[in-house]
Amino acid sequence: MQCPKCGGEMWDNRQKKADGTFKANAPDYKCKLDSCAEVVWPDKDEQGAGPPPMREQPPVEDEQDAPAEHFTVSKFKHCIVDATMLAEWAKKHGLNVSDVEIAKWATTLFINRG
Ligand SMILES: [Zn+2]
Repeated sequence: MQCPKCGGEMWDNRQKKADGTFKANAPDYKCKLDSCAEVVWPDKDEQGAGPPPMREQPPVEDEQDAPAEHFTVSKFKHCIVDATMLAEWAKKHGLNVSDVEIAKWATTLFINRG
């Protein structure tokens, strides 16, 4: 490291800072000339440009209730079929059942069947 002020040699304090001989807030380089005594501090941009602190992620929940997705989906499909059958039966008996209502029935069946 060349002194930016007088062009002379500088003490490299980085190792001494790392091993604790010098304080961490000591300059990285100091001019060997007492008459100059120029110091060079660590590049603040370099120090501050680290990655942002990691945010704590919520723990991933175990998916014990859903062993396999296709199985769950097929279960729900059966619920929809059953709900549609119920709706057909209801229509035959003069009830007007909307698609929204069928979907609600399917959901209810699905939840209650576990
Ligand atoms: Zn110097």
